Amino acid sequence: MNKIKERITSSPTETKEWAEALAKAITPPKILALFGNLGAGKTTFIQGLAKGLGIRGRVLSPTFIFIRPYKLSKGYKFYHVDLYRLDSEKDVEAIGLNEILQDKNAIVAIEWPEKIENLLPKGMISIKIEELDETKRKLTFY
Ligand code: ADP
Ligand code: MG
Repeated sequence: MNKIKERITSSPTETKEWAEALAKAITPPKILALFGNLGAGKTTFIQGLAKGLGIRGRVLSPTFIFIRPYKLSKGYKFYHVDLYRLDSEKDVEAIGLNEILQDKNAIVAIEWPEKIENLLPKGMISIKIEELDETKRKLTFY
């Protein structure tokens, strides 16, 4: 993987602002893979992303339902996917993820993308979030 950008944020707000700016620079179809441990800030990042895409209201972690869909303007969609509880790549079909990954009108942000390593498309944006201390995170874009 080629590192294209690296950034350290000092608060959840700063992480969200970064994601918000990224959201304004992307158009469907686009897949963003968010790598990082539990509590790293993947959901926080996606909240900023959603805000930048014009989604109002609270973006909750979809941990128990895997996928949360949101409507965007122009008929576009945003999908927040959290695969933390996915047991096997075989279950991807059951949760309807295949169609979502191929949706040309969608922006898809995936937490725990390593769970579907073999299904991840080329050309996606990968973002790794590392916890440096309580409030500092290193975001690496590939
Ligand atoms: P994940 O989805 O990776 O499990 P969350 O986004 O749910 O992580 O949680 C990240 C936690 O870390 C939140 O409680 C958030 O407030 C906190 N946090 C502290 N500093 C930062 C930062 N710089 N960027 C993002 N989150 C941060
Ligand atoms: Mg999360």
